[in-house]
Amino acid sequence: MCDVLIVGGGPAGLMAADYLSKLNYSITIVDQMPTMGRKFLMAGKSGLNLTKNEPIQKFLNNFSDPSSQLVNALENFTPNDVQIWASSLGINLFTGSTGRVFPFHMKASPLLRAWLAQLDSRGVKRRHKMEAISLNDMSMLFNTEKGQEEISAKAILFAMGGASWRRLGSDARWLKWLPNVENEKFSASNVGLKINWSSHINKYFGEPVKAIALKAGKMKSQGEIVITQSGIEGGGIYSLSQAIRKGENVFIDLLPNWSEKRLIDALQKPIGKISWANYFRKVLHLSNVKQALLREFRSDSFSKEQLLIDLKLLKIKHEGTDEIDKAISTAGGVLFDQLDQNLMLSERPGIFFAGEMLNWDAPTGGYLITAALATGLWSAKGIENLLLSNTLN
Ligand SMILES: Cc1cc2nc3c(=O)[nH]c(=O)nc-3n(C[C@H](O)[C@H](O)[C@H](O)COP(=O)(O)OP(=O)(O)OC[C@H]3O[C@@H](n4cnc5c(N)ncnc54)[C@H](O)[C@@H]3O)c2cc1C
Repeated sequence: MCDVLIVGGGPAGLMAADYLSKLNYSITIVDQMPTMGRKFLMAGKSGLNLTKNEPIQKFLNNFSDPSSQLVNALENFTPNDVQIWASSLGINLFTGSTGRVFPFHMKASPLLRAWLAQLDSRGVKRRHKMEAISLNDMSMLFNTEKGQEEISAKAILFAMGGASWRRLGSDARWLKWLPNVENEKFSASNVGLKINWSSHINKYFGEPVKAIALKAGKMKSQGEIVITQSGIEGGGIYSLSQAIRKGENVFIDLLPNWSEKRLIDALQKPIGKISWANYFRKVLHLSNVKQALLREFRSDSFSKEQLLIDLKLLKIKHEGTDEIDKAISTAGGVLFDQLDQNLMLSERPGIFFAGEMLNWDAPTGGYLITAALATGLWSAKGIENLLLSNTLN
């Protein structure tokens, strides 16, 4: 029997262990993988974007319809707090031109190593290769290498992640055994689009397309995209996930820095004897990859009026979003309205939730890890309150 059992050793679970280990509680954190924080490490492969350096109100605007619990958690642990916390683990940070905050060396491993060492030094029991398979009252059953094992606790925190990149541990199999917990179905968020490219795009696979603007419905983004064999990916398209899920069409502005008037003036130039490719390059300074996209998606009309529309509002013809397992994150999960203000299941005192397994959604840009950390901390404070009130009663 321990005071607190945390199931899931990602950023949310580790942050809860971090807070509670400063108090005098016995804490066990388990994960089904051979090591903790595998998705966090993967996030660091492309540059660990820990948070976004912006005022909390602006930060919150990036969460679609955030619950009061999520708002409280993020107001309690702001982007500034994320930076103070990472620095306290000896990690030097820098803020990029768009406000995104990264460790100086971009990777997650030094931070994770320092974090785990801190938890170890405070006596947190870390257990690996323990797959949670059922909950019975305040007791959890695990599949382990040596057979089944049961652990009881005064409070149990579930921080088992979303439903993408299953090979890193967050496989959402808990949906089958977590009793009486209502969920919104998981769907892919921050995910690429599938496109049946024609063969002339082949030579651009892996190439980034920069200095563009994208829009879907009311959502807009300025990030870059990357052409891949199966379609497009990258921050520019990920941040439109919410609108794409609602079925909105996606458009690219290939020349976002050109006003309509400037384009109209430029297009007055007759094409003469030069090829269209040369015309686009010389008159519009359109890179080869942008020209390829224009050729791929432009309408059949070759009038300059239509060309103007295509350059500024090129509709991407796609086959839908990539599969959920390839998504950076997932929308859906445990519904907030069955949880109290401390992220505890109202009907089951002692059972808490945190991280991506909760039903919130946000774009990439540091919002995901920050929300995982913030809800981990918030639930830990709820656990502290519960344990204190149990002692007093
Ligand atoms: C390629 C990639 C890049 C990313 N880059 C960024 C980025 O730069 N910035 C950003 O903000 N976010 C990024 N993210 C998203 C971010 O990593 C996640 O949102 C975050 O890790 C979620 O934290 P979590 O603790 O809720 O869940 P997770 O990190 O998924 O951790 C959940 C843990 O629970 C364990 N678990 C699950 N089921 C069980 C079970 N039954 N028994 C025991 N253990 C179980 C899993 O093994 C896992 O370790 C990225 C994600 C990916 C895939």
